[in-house]
Amino acid sequence: MDTQTLTTIPPDGKKYVVSSKKPEKRASGIPQIHMASITLNTSRGPQFIDITELVQENLDLCGIKEGNVFIYSRHTTAGIVVNENEPLLIKDMYRYLERLASPADEYDHNDFEVRTVNMCDDECANGHAHCQHLTIGCSEHVPVMEGKLSLGQWQRIFLLEMDRPRTREIYLQFFGI
Ligand code: ZN
Repeated sequence: MDTQTLTTIPPDGKKYVVSSKKPEKRASGIPQIHMASITLNTSRGPQFIDITELVQENLDLCGIKEGNVFIYSRHTTAGIVVNENEPLLIKDMYRYLERLASPADEYDHNDFEVRTVNMCDDECANGHAHCQHLTIGCSEHVPVMEGKLSLGQWQRIFLLEMDRPRTREIYLQFFGI
């Protein structure tokens, strides 16, 4: 890639940018779209499940070399995040989620005496998991270059379960050439 020095300087006059890379055409032709899905059973909540290798294996199967992958959780109490797979940090993040929305707090969603909407036979108290999900979100995008997920050194892709053990479905949409 060509490297050039940034010519625009932020209004405060400080020069934050060391270098930048000009846009580079990496592929041309008609882009393809491939869809894959992963279904898995989680074993606790919260739980980080590292799905990076699964995503890369599916990328290998569809053969896209340049483009991106969209990783999407089809749930309201389980999301997709990119973060570091370091056991002590994961414990810290469990505590962070609990501070964000503790299962011990009260939620109207958990009041089955009053609630009538979207009630299932196996309904359980998961108001905290929905509220945590507000911050976590459903999806991530990762660039694909030379057939590989272009993750940073410590970046891994996780399914984050915030509810009880459940069966979860993740869609992978690959877009590129
Ligand atoms: Zn719920």
